[in-house]
Amino acid sequence: MTDLPRSAKIIVVGGGIVGCSVAYHLTQLGWRDVVLLERAQLTSGTTWHAAGLLTSLRDTETQTRLAKYSQDLYRKLEAQTGQATGLIGCGSIQLAMTADKAEEMRRGVHMAHCFGVEAHEVSPSEVKKMWPLAQVEDLKAAFYFPNDARVNPTDVTQALAKGARLGGARIFENTRVIGIQSHEGRVRGVRTDRGEIAAEFVVNCAGMWARGIGRMAGVNVPLQACEHYYLISEPVPGVHPMLPILRDPGNSAYIREEAGKIMLGLFEATAKPWGTAGIPDDFRFGEIPPDWERMTPHIEKAMRRVPCLLETGIKLLFCGPESFTADHNYLMGEAPNLKNFFVAAGFNSLGILSGGGVGMVMAHWIVEGCAPMDVWTVNLRRTHAWQDNNRYLEDRVVETLGIGYQDHWPFRQPTTARGVKKSVLHDRLAAAGACFGESAGWERPNWYAHPGQEAAYLYGWGRQNWFTNNAEEHAAVRERVGLFEQSSFAKLLVSGRDAARVLNRIATANVDVAVGRCVYTQFLNTAGGIEADLTVTRLASDRFLIVTAAFTQTHVEAWIRNLIPEEARCTVSDLSDAYAMLNVQGPASRALLRAISSDDFSAAGFPFATCREVRIGYHTVLALRLTFVGELGWELYIPTSFAQGVYDTLIEAGRGHGLKHCGYHTLNSLRIEKAYRDWPHDIGPADTPLEAALAFTCDFKKPGGFIGREALLALREAGPPRRRLAQFLLDDPEPLVYHNEPIYRDGVRVGFVTSGMYGHTLGAAVALGYVAHADGCSDEYLQSGRYEIELARAKVSARCSLTPMYDPKNLRVRA
Ligand SMILES: Cc1cc2nc3c(=O)[nH]c(=O)nc-3n(C[C@H](O)[C@H](O)[C@H](O)COP(=O)(O)OP(=O)(O)OC[C@H]3O[C@@H](n4cnc5c(N)ncnc54)[C@H](O)[C@@H]3O)c2cc1C
Repeated sequence: MTDLPRSAKIIVVGGGIVGCSVAYHLTQLGWRDVVLLERAQLTSGTTWHAAGLLTSLRDTETQTRLAKYSQDLYRKLEAQTGQATGLIGCGSIQLAMTADKAEEMRRGVHMAHCFGVEAHEVSPSEVKKMWPLAQVEDLKAAFYFPNDARVNPTDVTQALAKGARLGGARIFENTRVIGIQSHEGRVRGVRTDRGEIAAEFVVNCAGMWARGIGRMAGVNVPLQACEHYYLISEPVPGVHPMLPILRDPGNSAYIREEAGKIMLGLFEATAKPWGTAGIPDDFRFGEIPPDWERMTPHIEKAMRRVPCLLETGIKLLFCGPESFTADHNYLMGEAPNLKNFFVAAGFNSLGILSGGGVGMVMAHWIVEGCAPMDVWTVNLRRTHAWQDNNRYLEDRVVETLGIGYQDHWPFRQPTTARGVKKSVLHDRLAAAGACFGESAGWERPNWYAHPGQEAAYLYGWGRQNWFTNNAEEHAAVRERVGLFEQSSFAKLLVSGRDAARVLNRIATANVDVAVGRCVYTQFLNTAGGIEADLTVTRLASDRFLIVTAAFTQTHVEAWIRNLIPEEARCTVSDLSDAYAMLNVQGPASRALLRAISSDDFSAAGFPFATCREVRIGYHTVLALRLTFVGELGWELYIPTSFAQGVYDTLIEAGRGHGLKHCGYHTLNSLRIEKAYRDWPHDIGPADTPLEAALAFTCDFKKPGGFIGREALLALREAGPPRRRLAQFLLDDPEPLVYHNEPIYRDGVRVGFVTSGMYGHTLGAAVALGYVAHADGCSDEYLQSGRYEIELARAKVSARCSLTPMYDPKNLRVRA
């Protein structure tokens, strides 16, 4: 064995496809001092036994782009490295057995077109022609992806490893990482069973062992392995390598050729966690004894797609472990609490088809300090410390494994591991009819059922079973007053002598304002992309309250902490669980609050974007005059012990003012009508305030500037942005818009919807979305086109507006 080096610029832990791809891409960017450490042999973890499907239609834009990049890379890897990858360009076909699945796939195909993926609908008889052994009578629709392919995962990994070596990387097998070294919040290297190596960066690509490697560094990597199956039949006459991969969600299965036999893989709806007592250290090229009893019903059902399988013998039922996460998205990026320690793990059985793209994104992120595209949905910082909990992960991954093959309904909620976090008002809200959804572990009221109506979702692509409830809640806020319970919001206190200076450098707006002022602002990365969108309220000269959505807490907290200069007197405290939040919105909110408080809620006495303590009943609460729905209203931050009393007082007095409980779906329909942007849907790390029409928050002249300012100035100098966010209202009052629907201008696809809901006041579905134009999107260009939005079956004409279609002059907000 060659001696280990004493130091390296970067150490990659794990020699599966992901670790090798990261090492390969680092060398492609010119880094040569790259060391990859593998406990056993390359591919010996999960990679060696993968089925190697490269299918490109994924749930999200990010996953689709990573899959597309991987396909393109694997196609050229052999020519570049001389190592074969076993790539077979067989294409794939997605099968829909229900009308709902057909609608979902049609929408998916439209979305895929936006990201350069080729796909088109084919008839059942065309499927039969391409796959003569398949049974097609039960199909409602099918979709063909000619560029999809399959590879040999071991060969691709070896090709990436070879490419990395050619670029200067050194790979050490039989070298186990046993500790991570760090100093003052920054990684310093690793300890191995063969000695120590100092390093500036460490990347944890240890697959299902990544949670354990994370723990060595105090970094939370919430993933859990599950049993994962495929079978190989005895030889079947008539099958050949060019048979397209069949993806058959109705039977939770995929089918492909394998050396003259048939491979049938399963994504059963209820999976079984594996390695719950820890992943064995000596598990290499390992298999799990198959659980025939549990799997037989799934296998029999799936075999009906190719009925001859029912008479063909099974040569192998293979079970291998793969890691899954709570939301079926990967875990990538820099640890929130350890600088230069990166993670790429938790691939939910998508690690081969996305491994190439993952390596590319990780390498840019590490080398340039910024991901090259919006990766929020896979960012490690969307996770929370509490998720590193065995019971939670084991309960949740049972549902995660099969999600990719289930119906992806709009508004779908997880059914496992629920009830992690509940506000102190939970039982009262349930009694008021709340139908809860989950976000960051919180149970949040999404809509309220009428008396006698079950507070439960009946999923579908048409109008939801809560459409009328939403319409009534929406109208209550526009015409009277609505009560939103938003205790889940994260509340961070930034305090200290230097707090104003620190925050002013991070925020686009000037937050060094008078005590009692609330400021709406963004935090930008150095490229000008929006990393956070939130309010900062000055409570005292040295204390600021930051309020942000619960799911962004880890990210926002880490963003601030990591930007506090070493010498600065500034600390961040988490007050989230100390305060409940009730949000009272609507034209009658002033009258309601006056009825229960003697404090001054007049326009002059309590202007928009200010805050003060007020007394409600026996209680003192912090009131912020803000809105995310476009109406007069106040957010009430209530010490948790006061929350029930304040709620009861509001409900009691509310009877005389038409107060109505309102859920998060109503918050959403109201804010889209008002064209308020939502992070990360409408704005995110790859969007700038110039593109999103949020430059009004940027104080370009404030002393000390702000992070991202120079990038914005350079972009502004270059002329109108090449893409801009606009609001759209369908001309037809019937259809619904959700997200990712393509937007056409004068018949040409120019972008896609980032969020959409029914606009009950405007009288049709309303959406936000970007329009792109290579020569720049001037106001004139945007306003002159004829717009259509592409729904599952037809394009529907729409009106485009650069100003909010609801209350463009903000008269209601400032009432
Ligand atoms: C049955 C099955 C079928 C699948 N089919 C597909 C498919 O068709 N398409 C697809 O995209 N995906 C598929 N997958 C998923 C895919 O195999 C994984 O997502 C992918 O292999 C994960 O790669 P990785 O590099 O993250 O992990 P791994 O391949 O597990 O690599 C991690 C490496 O880290 C090493 N390691 C661990 N601890 C240490 C340590 N302390 N020090 C040094 N090294 C360490 C391990 O030895 C291992 O080699 C399938 C998975 C299964 C189980």
